[in-house]
Amino acid sequence: MSTYTLVIHGGAGTILKKDLTNELEAAYRKGLEDALKAGYALLEKGKTAVEAVLAATISLENNILFNAGKGSVFGKDGSQEMDASIMDGKNLMAGAVSAVRNVRNPVELAHAIMNKSQHVMLNGNGALEFAKEHGLQIEEDEYFYSAFRYEQWKQMQGSNEVVLDHNVVIKDKKFGTVGAAAMDIHGNIAAATSTGGMTNKQYGRVGDSPIIGAGTYANNKTCAISCTGHGEPFIRAVTAYDVSCLMEYKGLSLEEAMKVVVHDKLMKIDGEGGMIGVDAKGNTALVFNSEGMYRGVRRSDGQDKIAIYK
Ligand code: ASP
Repeated sequence: MSTYTLVIHGGAGTILKKDLTNELEAAYRKGLEDALKAGYALLEKGKTAVEAVLAATISLENNILFNAGKGSVFGKDGSQEMDASIMDGKNLMAGAVSAVRNVRNPVELAHAIMNKSQHVMLNGNGALEFAKEHGLQIEEDEYFYSAFRYEQWKQMQGSNEVVLDHNVVIKDKKFGTVGAAAMDIHGNIAAATSTGGMTNKQYGRVGDSPIIGAGTYANNKTCAISCTGHGEPFIRAVTAYDVSCLMEYKGLSLEEAMKVVVHDKLMKIDGEGGMIGVDAKGNTALVFNSEGMYRGVRRSDGQDKIAIYK
């Protein structure tokens, strides 16, 4: 039997059972289930890991509950700037977009940049122009608006505080970024990540999510990783690539490498958050140092799980 596997996340942070109503928890679980279905259906049909992570991430971007695409957080100036990236472990091709507005699915734009440009990353207005030229769907600001995240931002407006998604409401840290990693029947792996970033962030701020090697990385030799957490420490730790390096140079397993990075290296620099990943044999790992992480895994060997808390 051919094997394939998909893992996804919808952000990590101080996600406690007492803070989620049953209805909200059910809605988050459904969002994760929808994303698993979207990506997994493609893997079952023999499509590529890139196509699967793209579909799963688009599904999460379209869900207002997650901080990516529709429902992205608000920056200091009240705008919603988004970051996304995608990487193909088969050939190390990558595409990324930073600080872009009004593009319905930033990960789709990252994918177009990977496939249809000579570049790896486009940002801001240049990225928006590229999206328009390539016929991607553009939306008015209202499309991205959510009352919940607007309130979060309103509570911080005028301050210099920068917080991760949901942080404001319960004075704890939560990160609502989304991402996926997959292995297809051909044994190729890929990863994608998408985010609205951090509430009240500086105009023009770029987090780890669109940075290849920090928030996203994929290499058939080692692993495909998507991260979520406080972007700045994740950039400084070159997080996703470090997992790959520990596997390649030190021979660690995917899970061992992730644990070193998430529980040791990131903790030492206050890097709260987590990551999901697959290796080229289809092993999966989901590791975080926060209270919870919205996450899901579906594998052709029958493993199937959605979880939120520790
Ligand atoms: N890593 C993202 C950023 O710093 C935030 C998140 O994971 O929610 O932009």
